[in-house]
Amino acid sequence: MIPVTQPFLPPKSELYALLDEVYERNWLTNSGPLVNLLESEIPEFLNYNGHFSYVNNGTIALQIAIKALELKGEIITTPFSYVATTSSIAWEGCKAVFVDIEKGSCNIDPKKIEAAITPQTSAILATHVYGNPCDVEAIAAIAKKHNLKVIYDAAHCFGTTYKGKSIFEYGDVSTTSFHATKLFHTVEGGALFTNNKDLAHKINYMRNFGHNGQEDFWGIGINGKNSEFHAAMGIANLKHISTILRKRKAQWLLYRDQLCNHFNVLKLIDEPGFNYAYFPVFFDAEEELLKKKKLLEENHIYCRRYFYPSLNTLKYVDEQKKFDVSEVRSKVVLILPLYDKLSKKDQLLIIKKMLE
Ligand SMILES: *Cc1c(COP(=O)(O)O)cnc(C)c1O
Repeated sequence: MIPVTQPFLPPKSELYALLDEVYERNWLTNSGPLVNLLESEIPEFLNYNGHFSYVNNGTIALQIAIKALELKGEIITTPFSYVATTSSIAWEGCKAVFVDIEKGSCNIDPKKIEAAITPQTSAILATHVYGNPCDVEAIAAIAKKHNLKVIYDAAHCFGTTYKGKSIFEYGDVSTTSFHATKLFHTVEGGALFTNNKDLAHKINYMRNFGHNGQEDFWGIGINGKNSEFHAAMGIANLKHISTILRKRKAQWLLYRDQLCNHFNVLKLIDEPGFNYAYFPVFFDAEEELLKKKKLLEENHIYCRRYFYPSLNTLKYVDEQKKFDVSEVRSKVVLILPLYDKLSKKDQLLIIKKMLE
């Protein structure tokens, strides 16, 4: 069986050495030494110079970002993302106002943002889809002109750079996910990135119930902390991440080389900075996708429709107009298997079946 992804697992001995330390200290969570170590190692690896806050998942990172920026009213967002992008907005009591995407990158189309701005708009929350950056310059210019905050859901972006800078440098806050299915993971986990010191301060209180010492509370908070066990997995994985990234790059380039004459593939915004997080293939029609998906499954190859469905079709969002690009893209996109342990032989089989 070839799954669409498989989490990387470090050698047991490396993880267990860290867990032995945890057992000895008997300090399991609440800003323990491994969490602190991971919080220094990740920004260093990413060459990220701002403030980094490790939390327990990428969804809570989005919710804390919305809360910390005190967003109200309407948030402009993309219908082409994982459900957590939209659900976080709704969960925080704001209204998701969708703006359609660009066909080539599947990222929010900045040319369509201004038409969606109203006096109630407080922010733009956009996703860097598949690890490929949004048009961050255009979005920054619109945000500045209309005095809006910008959050990037950068859940796919571990290791992505744009114009030589970590993609997490962009926006008022960037969030990411370290879920087991992501390129770098801590089993469950996530993070917030910001260059604003006061905001980082607020985020760090918010992720720990607002605690200011044992008996005082700085303000409202939630439990966004992560544990020593999760940090141990992250620290162990981080030792292998350069190799993982290198392998994925080779796999991604082989797919593109073999498939780009037969299918539409992702248009890279900044190829040298790409992290090779996903290899999406765009079919001409949904029927073709379904036929191919079935053929692949008959050969025990499991691909994923991602993102599907377009989020403007969720039952709990206010009905809005049609979003032609997002709705069509979500129906014709299929993600091919890409992970550390995918063998060359299996990848060649996938390519063969794709071309059949
Ligand atoms: C994975 C993902 C999330 C959610 O992250 P979790 O860590 O699973 O909560 C949010 N947005 C996008 C785009 C994602 O891919």
